[in-house]
Amino acid sequence: MEHANTKIAAVHQNFAAVQGILSCPLCHQPLKLQNNSFCCPQGHCYDLSAKNYLNLAPQKKQNTNLYTTELFKARRQIFEAGLYNPLLEKLQSICQAALPADNSQQSLLLDAGCGEGFFASKLYQQIKALTVCALDLAKNAVQLAAKGPVRPGFYCVIGDLANLPLLDNTVDIMLNLLSPANYLEFARVLKPGGLLIKIIPGAEYLKEVRQALQIHAPERAERQALDLWQQHISPLQTQVHKLTYQKPITAEQAAAFVKMSPLSFNHQPNAVQADFSQITIDLRILIATIYN
Ligand SMILES: [Zn+2]
Repeated sequence: MEHANTKIAAVHQNFAAVQGILSCPLCHQPLKLQNNSFCCPQGHCYDLSAKNYLNLAPQKKQNTNLYTTELFKARRQIFEAGLYNPLLEKLQSICQAALPADNSQQSLLLDAGCGEGFFASKLYQQIKALTVCALDLAKNAVQLAAKGPVRPGFYCVIGDLANLPLLDNTVDIMLNLLSPANYLEFARVLKPGGLLIKIIPGAEYLKEVRQALQIHAPERAERQALDLWQQHISPLQTQVHKLTYQKPITAEQAAAFVKMSPLSFNHQPNAVQADFSQITIDLRILIATIYN
């Protein structure tokens, strides 16, 4: 019991620092920490979990049939193996360049659609001037992100990126990595001059997985994601970086790639022959400074 009390006290102390940032997802008013709950002036309350996260979307239904804990564990396994390290390094240098040169103040990065939190966690570890909020609607993903000791300035939140539980003009850097976007919400919570970083799959992304699943039409995802971006953000404002590489992988990693892919949702993953020994990572990194 004492252990649990100590843990919730540490969680409380950490989250006390994000008062003034979080908002009620129902009425959008500021949330204040009272005991171990965040409450708005209308009386909507959200309890902190002793497991180191805050659920700001308790009314949302969890889609655990598609977004299984197994899927998020497969993702974690792939990320931990270093297969996305070139992306991580790129993100690190983009964030670093956007921060005040003298490191005089903490900047807030919101990872909207963080999944199991690998990138949020690494950026938090590597860049001392960043405070990081890792947000996802999937409870099992956020629980994985929140595992381990409380880290000051690292916040895990269950929340809807189409109805972000943050006040206006609070975020310095918005990261949206291989996840759906809501640009109106992103612009609302970003500070004027804040940075938006969006990662979308290129035409060759995970082509080995698509071949194994016998899925075609590779360009569609990239086209749709680019169209949506361009509806909200002018090409003049946009920097595009292309990141393409191939890595050798083990049979176990090939199986994990199939398991973690939303493309496999219509398949029985165990019925798929994951007999490829290299993987193609082909990504577009879109960056814009937002002024509205
Ligand atoms: Zn409220």
